[in-house]
Amino acid sequence: EGGVKAKGRIVMATVKGDVHDIGKNIVGVVLGCNNFEVIDLGVMVSAQKILDTAREVNADMIGLSGLITPSLEEMAHVAKEMERQGFTVPLLIGGATTSRVHTAVKIAPHYAQPVIYVPDASRAVGVASNLVSEDQRAGYVAGVAVEYERVRAQHAGKKGPEMISLAAARANKTPLDWSVYTPPRPKFIGRKLFKNFDLAELAQYIDWGPLFQVWDLAGSFPALLQDQVVGEAARHVQSDGQALLKKLIDGRWLTAHGVVTLLPANSVNDDDIEIYADEARSQVALTWHGLRQQTKKPSNTPNRCLADFIAPKTSGDLDYIGLFAVTAGLNIEARLKQFEAAHDDYHSIMLKALADRLAEAFAEALHKKVRRELWGYAADEHLENHDLIAEKYRGIRPAPGYPACPDHTVKGDLFKALNCAEIDMTLTESLAMMPAASVSGFYFSHPDSTYFNVGKIGADQLDDQVKRRGMPKEELERWLAPNL
Ligand code: SAH
Repeated sequence: EGGVKAKGRIVMATVKGDVHDIGKNIVGVVLGCNNFEVIDLGVMVSAQKILDTAREVNADMIGLSGLITPSLEEMAHVAKEMERQGFTVPLLIGGATTSRVHTAVKIAPHYAQPVIYVPDASRAVGVASNLVSEDQRAGYVAGVAVEYERVRAQHAGKKGPEMISLAAARANKTPLDWSVYTPPRPKFIGRKLFKNFDLAELAQYIDWGPLFQVWDLAGSFPALLQDQVVGEAARHVQSDGQALLKKLIDGRWLTAHGVVTLLPANSVNDDDIEIYADEARSQVALTWHGLRQQTKKPSNTPNRCLADFIAPKTSGDLDYIGLFAVTAGLNIEARLKQFEAAHDDYHSIMLKALADRLAEAFAEALHKKVRRELWGYAADEHLENHDLIAEKYRGIRPAPGYPACPDHTVKGDLFKALNCAEIDMTLTESLAMMPAASVSGFYFSHPDSTYFNVGKIGADQLDDQVKRRGMPKEELERWLAPNL
């Protein structure tokens, strides 16, 4: 209103199917503070809406954000649409699973204008300023083009990891001797709801470390609090975060619901897990098609698949598995609106970050309850929070979309089996969980079960999965693109 001319106008959005926007919002604040006009379209925004808005407001650039891997495909789609619809403005790419290589190799080739990866909020202003600067733009854009061409050439020339066949990988599965092992039978079998879980109890399970990553404060917690460079800022984040946590607990701003189901299960045909509706094991509630590591391993290192940790049906062992989903983000919108109305971006972002912390804490708290009480195989476990965070307990809780099960599609079956609708959790078309502050996954009880990274899989495994699932190949290719 004071007549100051903005340096440039940027339309930003979290792409269709994705609900994560903490990083985008921080970028928006930083750009706004540096005199850019930011038109933020929010989350789950279709390509057409982004492009229509950019045209309408005559934007100088478009910024896309996303967290989950399916969003990478959606970003490439937006780039294609920009080309097809004759756009000329630069496209900025950001978000946790994005990278310079992915931007250069998978997105930039679809759009003839500049496509630029922005690693974090601190870089956004430099990139945006260069793009609106009359004398620097041409040189900057040319420099990025040369750099990305080099990245593409390097990527094309890279051999990638040495792969083995799926059959050979299966032959090198995790060596577990089922003949000497008896899977623990859960004390409780079936489904249990945890509604309106006590936020104060959850607070005791918070892993504070990732809160500092949200604010780009590098270092491990708690050491970073004393760090020469980031210490002071980290101490501010900590005290502001704790103050807001107290308010949200006292005022019951958020609602936390969870659901757990423990069921009989066996692995079948090496890589699949059959989960049975009841102890008769006659009816399959869901089959989980596991992905197996296929890169060549050093000797004595297995090619793992999560199914390795569940007793094979052929062993005759009666094994079990757990399914869970938790959220701490219900009712967050009302508070966010208040902060946003007061132009308090800082607390709006902090509240979202705390909701994420509470969701992870809920996953931790419930997992402990399952080990000690519901499944009961670790009834006498007594671990401090730092030991829980360090995963010193028996068993794992792999989550779809993470390295041991990078495939998001299983969430559809998981949510159905858990009836997540009853705790107001849903999935977007890209299988992002709503509310955003949610965790879901499986419980494995085997003492040797461990997290790992599936990594790159071969064409033979893709074909095998297509057959096992009866899913069209193009569709599965899209879901598994990050691992192909
Ligand atoms: N303590 C951290 C945990 C983050 S990881 C935090 O508070 O942020 C988020 C979830 O992913 C974990 O709770 C666990 O369920 C799952 N997970 C972790 N590593 C994994 C892996 N390699 N494969 C599959 N799931 C994993």
